[in-house]
Amino acid sequence: EEDVFEYKKSLAIRASGFDVPRPVKSFEDCGFSSQLMAAIKKQDYQKPTPIQCAALPMVLSGRDIIGIAKTGSGKTAAFVLPMIVHIMDQPELQKEEGPIGVICAPTRELAHQIYIESKKFAKSHGIRVCAVYGGMSKLDQFKELKAGCEIVVATPGRLIDMLKMKALTMLRATYLVLDEADRMFDLGFEPQIRSIVGQIRPDRLTLLFSATMPRKVEKLAREILSDPIRVTVGEVG
Ligand code: ADP
Ligand code: MG
Repeated sequence: EEDVFEYKKSLAIRASGFDVPRPVKSFEDCGFSSQLMAAIKKQDYQKPTPIQCAALPMVLSGRDIIGIAKTGSGKTAAFVLPMIVHIMDQPELQKEEGPIGVICAPTRELAHQIYIESKKFAKSHGIRVCAVYGGMSKLDQFKELKAGCEIVVATPGRLIDMLKMKALTMLRATYLVLDEADRMFDLGFEPQIRSIVGQIRPDRLTLLFSATMPRKVEKLAREILSDPIRVTVGEVG
């Protein structure tokens, strides 16, 4: 069926008038809801890290980004906070439609960290997060996904398994994050990443983060991102 779902590109509308938004100096500059601001305060984040200062306004304005930054720079909040804003702008999920936000990470440890971190922000808006990675029973994961969630945090292999089992669909997915892309390539996940990306509508928002940019990652970025802004923080390896 050629029934393409019209999603709200409200993030992009906020950007009309400028090309590359200026970095923000504080979380107050981001226009977040009071609930989200309270969740940020609760994490004791006083001010955004450099990657957050640069990336938040870009993503909030609907731009794809390539974020080049080392571990510990605060990438998770840089992609999760705009994801929350994006999800709140969309019509509610009907049964068996989710997720809206898809986050891929190379290892179950990293996916788990992102899962824990994103839940802290998501719960302020009643947004459900599902973790999809190896080491957990496939049946339990299947059931959890079937119950519905707005955000999936996954390793590529297990996400493919769940897609094959029809535990979830990419019908409503419009915000894709590839975290630690260089490590996903090192672990041989390129085919799985390409398969996942191929199942998500091309007019999605796409964010790619990597500590380094080997040629293969650069090539993927050129193929799957639309007119991205490159954000580099700290020294590049
Ligand atoms: P990365 O993914 O770049 O390695 P993380 O997103 O995991 O980094 O963040 C690293 C640590 O910094 C985490 O403990 C996180 O809670 C914390 N952190 C993130 N953003 C901020 C901030 N704005 N202020 C203070 N701590 C932060
Ligand atoms: Mg990280």
